[in-house]
Amino acid sequence: MPSPSLPASFCLFDTAIGHCAIAWNANGIVRLQLPEASESLTGARHLPEATQGEPPPSIRAAIERIGALLGGRADDLADLALDLDAISPFHRRVYEFVRTIGPGHTTTYGEVAARIDAPGSARAVGQALGENPFAPVVPCHRVLAAGGRAGGFSAARGVATKLRMLEIEKARIGEEPGLFDDVAEQANLGTAALDESMMRLALGQARLAAAKGEVPVGAVVVRDGEVLGAGFNQPIGAHDPSAHAEIMAMRAAASAIGNYRLVGCDLYVTLEPCAMCAGAIQHARIGRVVYGAADPKTGACGSVVDLFAEPRLNHHAHVYGGVMASECAALLSSFFAERRRR
Ligand SMILES: [Zn+2]
Repeated sequence: MPSPSLPASFCLFDTAIGHCAIAWNANGIVRLQLPEASESLTGARHLPEATQGEPPPSIRAAIERIGALLGGRADDLADLALDLDAISPFHRRVYEFVRTIGPGHTTTYGEVAARIDAPGSARAVGQALGENPFAPVVPCHRVLAAGGRAGGFSAARGVATKLRMLEIEKARIGEEPGLFDDVAEQANLGTAALDESMMRLALGQARLAAAKGEVPVGAVVVRDGEVLGAGFNQPIGAHDPSAHAEIMAMRAAASAIGNYRLVGCDLYVTLEPCAMCAGAIQHARIGRVVYGAADPKTGACGSVVDLFAEPRLNHHAHVYGGVMASECAALLSSFFAERRRR
C-alpha cells in the first residue's frame, strides 16, 4: 500500500459494527479501517507513519455520517473528500465508479469492469476492491462476485463485515432481495431475521396493550440475542405519563441486570420513539434502536425531530426503522378504527 502524499493523522471511532479508524490529511480521507479483531490493531495497520490526532470539523462530520450509514441510515457519502494521490489510475477508476453505487444496491466485479471500459478485468477489479482503503465511503461491500458471493474484502472479519453492512442497508432500504438473501443464507448471518423475530416479540407486547385498551405499542430489550426485558404502552392503566413501551421494557431490563446502563443492548419497538423515550434510551446507553412504524406526530428519530442526529447530545445509539413497519402500523390503525366505531 503506497504512502499518502501528505502527513496524516488518525483517530478511532465507534460504530454499530464495532471500532473503526479514520486517517486524514489536508486533501481529505486517506484511510478508513473497518473493525479488526482488536482495537489496538485498528488504525495502526496501514498507517504506521500517521499520528493520532483530533479530527477537524470536516472529518468529524464524515465520522458522524459513516457511523450513521453503518447504523442503517441511507447515505451514499458521495461528497466526502478522499485523498487519491497515492492511488493508481486503475484503482482510482474502480473506486470512483463504485462510489456511484447507492446504499441497498449491489453489482458484480464483472459489471464494474464493463462500466469502467475495462471488460475482462473483473479479477483486477476484485483486487482493487480487496485493497480498498476507503470502505465504506468506497462501498466495496456492494460489489459481489458472480452468483452473489461476497468476496474480495480486506478487513480481518472481511466477509462477515461485508455481509453485515449489506444486511444493515437491505433492512433499511430493501433492494434486490433475491440476490441478497442467497448471500446472507450462505454465510448464515441472520441480522435481518433476528431483527424480525425480535420485532415479532415487540408486536406481541403491543397486542397486550391493545387488549387493555391502550394504544398498541410494544418493546423488548435484547442483549446477545437474549431478551432482558419487555413492556407495552400503558399510561392510562398505570396512571403514568411515562409508561411508554420503551420505558417499561428498559425498566424491566435494567432491573433484570441490576444496572440502569443497558450497555450492549438493542431496543426493539413497534413505533418510532418519542422525545421522552429517545432521552431515556440515551441515558440507558442503548447501543441500537430498531423501530417498526414511523410516527409522523411525535417521532423523535427523524419524523418530527431527530434527537439521534444531534452531535451535541452524547449518545451511543444507532437507529434504524422500518422493520415490519406495515404490521406495526396495521396494528395501530386497526386499534384506532375500532375505537372510532365505538
Ligand atoms: Zn415514548
